[in-house]
Amino acid sequence: MTTTPADCCADSEQKLLPVELARERILQAVQTVTAIEQLHLRSALGRVLVEPLIANIDVPPFANSAMDGYAVRNQDCTGSRETTLEVIGTSFAGRPFNGEVSDHQCVRIMTGAVIPEGADAVVMQEQVKRDGEQISFDNRSVKPGQHVRYAGEDSRQGNTVLQPGIKLGAAEIGLLASVGVSEVRVSRRLRVAFFSTGDELTAIGTPLDKGQIYDSNRYTLFGMLSRPGIECYDLGVIPDQREAVRAAFQQAGEMADLILTSGGVSVGEADYVTETLSELGKINFWRMAMKPGKPLAFGKMGRAVFFGLPGNPVSVMVTFYQFVLPTIRKMSGEKEREALLIQARCSQELKKTPGRMEFQRGILKRESDASWSVCSTGTQGSHVLSSMSNSNCLILLPAESDGAKNGELVTVQPFMDFD
Ligand code: AMP
Ligand code: MG
Repeated sequence: MTTTPADCCADSEQKLLPVELARERILQAVQTVTAIEQLHLRSALGRVLVEPLIANIDVPPFANSAMDGYAVRNQDCTGSRETTLEVIGTSFAGRPFNGEVSDHQCVRIMTGAVIPEGADAVVMQEQVKRDGEQISFDNRSVKPGQHVRYAGEDSRQGNTVLQPGIKLGAAEIGLLASVGVSEVRVSRRLRVAFFSTGDELTAIGTPLDKGQIYDSNRYTLFGMLSRPGIECYDLGVIPDQREAVRAAFQQAGEMADLILTSGGVSVGEADYVTETLSELGKINFWRMAMKPGKPLAFGKMGRAVFFGLPGNPVSVMVTFYQFVLPTIRKMSGEKEREALLIQARCSQELKKTPGRMEFQRGILKRESDASWSVCSTGTQGSHVLSSMSNSNCLILLPAESDGAKNGELVTVQPFMDFD
């Protein structure tokens, strides 16, 4: 799978690699990390489940009332319109009524309380007239099972509650708690090391010299990598010096499952990153049919997967979301998911030259007629990081497209798809 920088330089402009094909190749080349950890539920939030989770109990564990009212026998609620019953006790949530409901009897019942023996329906208290220990109500609306939540309606004993490969969110850890599970087996955290390269980069906290810029990529990368399933290591800014670059890669290779760098992978660039990479690993230097993010390096360095992201700040974010994030999901054992794509009407003209797929930064909005519209954030340069902050979606314009007219439908990917 290796091509050298020299091969790439020989490529003609027509041999740009399409985004989908690159993603396919990348996902084919990476494996799921197999190590497992057993964690308490709260610590498992955001982690990927590695085995099916079977319920050991029914949830709810018993038939209970969905309403505050009276537990009745449906067979008493026939005949003339009005039914009158005797109240023989109360069933509270957590404090069941222990007797049995017989002919023309009922039990006062609260939401979540056990349906007493003999009863099979609940009449809402709002529909009942109470007079001492007697209630009466119009029986035409009563049906068997009315307002009863049966045992196992949510999770049934012996059934699979969660499939392996699911990332545990708030609903999932709550669901696990509901079946009484306190610990789960999840894949271990993925170790991701990253650093920036470039002699022009200054770490924040130091005044800028002429020709210098602040290193922002390590901060966007830190932000995008800060997830419960990731242990990330920031190896700092590495100057464009042969030994420093080599040492940084070696250090990263020893600690990480995944190594990310930004900068220094432009095709034909005479720097030490490409040179060192070719020596240390099996790396492809791709020219992607995408904008932003044309240069991209991908491969393996020892056991670690490597991405050399472009240097431009927007390119870093876009290539991270399009290639690195699906890789992280696969390496973490998360089952593949389809991208969340929405059709929205362009509220302005979008300019584009055919050839490369574009990921323009957009603002997705719901219109008063409930349709979606999208507009551009303005200047689309790959150095304009504020465009990422001002947007809430990427507008995906296919390679062959020559832009979009005002009113035309375009595909957008909301940022929530990158959670
Ligand atoms: P390169 O890919 O190294 O040629 O970098 C492309 C552009 O991205 C140049 O303008 C770099 O100055 C800029 N750049 C590279 N790395 C960073 C970084 N860590 N933070 C901000 N800008 C960067
Ligand atoms: Mg550079």
